[in-house]
Amino acid sequence: MLGFLLARKGVEVIVLEKHKDFLRDFRGDTIHPSTLELMYELGLLEAFLRQPHQEVRQVEVHFGTEKATIADFSHLPTHCKFIAFMPQWDFLNFISTHARHCASFRLRMEAEVTDLLFENERIVGVRATTPQGELEVRADLVVGADGRSSTVRERADLEVMDLGAPIDVLWFGLSRRPGDPEQAFGYVGAGQFMVLLDRGDHWQCGYVIRKGGFEQKRQRGLEELRADVSRCAPFLQDRVAELKDWNAVRLLTVKVDRLRRWYRDGLLCIGDSAHAMSPVGGVGINLAIQDAVATANILGEKLREGRVELNNLRAVQHRRERPAHLTQRAQIFIHEHFLERVFKANEQMSSPLPARLLEEFPLLRRIPARMIGIGFRPEHVLSAKT
Ligand SMILES: Cc1cc2nc3c(=O)[nH]c(=O)nc-3n(C[C@H](O)[C@H](O)[C@H](O)COP(=O)(O)OP(=O)(O)OC[C@H]3O[C@@H](n4cnc5c(N)ncnc54)[C@H](O)[C@@H]3O)c2cc1C
Repeated sequence: MLGFLLARKGVEVIVLEKHKDFLRDFRGDTIHPSTLELMYELGLLEAFLRQPHQEVRQVEVHFGTEKATIADFSHLPTHCKFIAFMPQWDFLNFISTHARHCASFRLRMEAEVTDLLFENERIVGVRATTPQGELEVRADLVVGADGRSSTVRERADLEVMDLGAPIDVLWFGLSRRPGDPEQAFGYVGAGQFMVLLDRGDHWQCGYVIRKGGFEQKRQRGLEELRADVSRCAPFLQDRVAELKDWNAVRLLTVKVDRLRRWYRDGLLCIGDSAHAMSPVGGVGINLAIQDAVATANILGEKLREGRVELNNLRAVQHRRERPAHLTQRAQIFIHEHFLERVFKANEQMSSPLPARLLEEFPLLRRIPARMIGIGFRPEHVLSAKT
């Protein structure tokens, strides 16, 4: 996204992606109203909405037979009053196709950054491995947007503050069948929590476990996992047999951390590389995109003129760290006060008071809708295309 926004401003950009395509399924599928608003600002909304996607206007959580609507996006001050569910490979293919229309944009797939190039104390580029051999790219600025296991931030020796995440996620697909619920749901069972993302022909299931609990789950056997899933979301009972072996179940490790300083001379980290997000609330993609927009707004001109200084990089962190910190705090609150309670429950938990209030008073649902759909300090595409 940052590559696209900078190339629109005439900045020479090369994006290095380690995989040969974007077909990864570890990132969630949510395109938030604020991101859809950016699509509108970029003149791409209509084309975007022609891509296959599902529109979710309300978020519901099931507590056994009780249901609570916890967010309602229909009153947001944005053009799209829904979350679009679109697999991230489709989203990234869409963005990169449009970015390629800019003469100064280059995307190099299968180029894995392994190290940084230094001149004195300044970072002046990266070293990457490609199927054709080693590649060196020199640049006025290196941006680490390489996610929660960022090589760039590690090589730059930036200090990471681990905020702790008590959960991991088991990630697997189950078929979607006629008569299934229409929208994406959270399901709370006895000691269990699971999220379902609608991917058209199947449900992408995120079954939340305690951090480090995967080995124990495996030892209990697949039949137990199938039974757990059936208890948590009973409508899946008729298809849990699709989980034929453990190869169908991936462990996704959740991290919540942040860098004390997002930059050093010649380098900036954004997105999960600067502040790894928990899946709670499904907001990490939105934050990463908002970081990209702020970075393009603050650094675009400077990069075009080839003079980015430390205080410009500091300005990006200054603009974006508060929204990231506030969101992480909210996620940690939910880990500690909701998920802990769920894990400890020996029997079906009834809907907690906040969820009952949201169900009872629809006006209140606008608050979580705003936090999820727009977030703290939404960014806007400032300048027109060059
Ligand atoms: C289980 C789980 C579910 C989630 N679900 C959601 C959700 O539904 N909605 C939501 O908003 N957020 C969700 N999140 C959070 C979200 O995934 C992240 O916050 C978001 O993807 C961060 O975006 P990013 O661009 O910073 O990093 P990423 O999306 O991780 O992208 C990093 C990119 O860099 C590439 N890369 C990595 N290393 C290198 C290298 N050395 N060289 C070259 N390329 C490299 C990767 O291949 C990848 O394409 C979830 C997180 C987890 C763990």
